[in-house]
Amino acid sequence: MNPHQLLHPRPEGLYCPPGDFYIDPVRPVERALITHGHSDHARPGHGHVMATAETLDIMAIRCGENFAGATQVAKLGEEVNINGVRVSFHPAGHVLGSAQIAVEHNGTRIVASGDYKRTSDPTCASFELVPCDVFITEATFGLPVFRHPKPQDEIARLLKSMSQFPERSHLVGAYALGKAQRVIKLVRQAGYNETIYIHGALARLCDYYASRGIDLGPLSPATLDQSDRTDFAGALVVGPPSAFADRWARRFPDPVAAFASGWMRIRQRAKQRGVELPIILSDHSDWDELIATIRETGASEVWVTHGREEALVRWCELEGIKARPLHLVGYEDEGDA
Ligand SMILES: [Zn+2]
Repeated sequence: MNPHQLLHPRPEGLYCPPGDFYIDPVRPVERALITHGHSDHARPGHGHVMATAETLDIMAIRCGENFAGATQVAKLGEEVNINGVRVSFHPAGHVLGSAQIAVEHNGTRIVASGDYKRTSDPTCASFELVPCDVFITEATFGLPVFRHPKPQDEIARLLKSMSQFPERSHLVGAYALGKAQRVIKLVRQAGYNETIYIHGALARLCDYYASRGIDLGPLSPATLDQSDRTDFAGALVVGPPSAFADRWARRFPDPVAAFASGWMRIRQRAKQRGVELPIILSDHSDWDELIATIRETGASEVWVTHGREEALVRWCELEGIKARPLHLVGYEDEGDA
């Protein structure tokens, strides 16, 4: 069948007419399949939500227990029939619980990858390649200039700075779902065993990761009101990027402002944010990962969702792969990068 009859964009999001469901809709719909818990993909208010158990838990933590009328757990690799359409979820390697969604009908298989990366991440299952006819890819870092360095090397720079400036606190801005836990876990794997201080906005998600077997080591709140400023000398503090602009950040002694994001590749962005120590760490694919994944899926057609669509579409065309941007609205380019 024509793949556009199986999935196509609507204002609410990517819609499957034969299955009568949406993938990551940005407006409330009757039936939603959700790839992962980031807020631009996982919105409250749908009648029925199908997602991995972790994504459902994360939505409940972030949006409240009543985030949907009804929920259904999608087990990874298990095929479910929705109105005659075969649907299955497969790990995307993006954050805990993240999944690609494969949709198959009348011999045509489309994989909606959601956000994904190929670099290994100790806080979530690795991306699983699913061969398909049409691959729907993100393109957050869809330019050849984007090549992410090794995560371990970036974490080593953070630990080196901490040993060079033992009297200063190191404040690491990291998105609350995924990036913060990944930074903490990588720091642990590099051998740092001291207490790490976390902003209150991270507490529930860090607890949840720990409950799913991702040991983040000793964590303490960094939100005490009358804390002695000297308490945090030499400390590692992790908080959401938004916290660093407000008074919260001023309690720490002579802080080194760090920020963990794929965007830290761009020096100007680090400068604009007042980041002294940029840590280039992304939960999205870089250019090499994007093009390798497109090739490996064997897809004869590629649809590009959000990010830098033009370069990736052009690359596909030069490779003889049909490609087009989907122009879906409502997804953040930068939110969780
Ligand atoms: Zn995401």
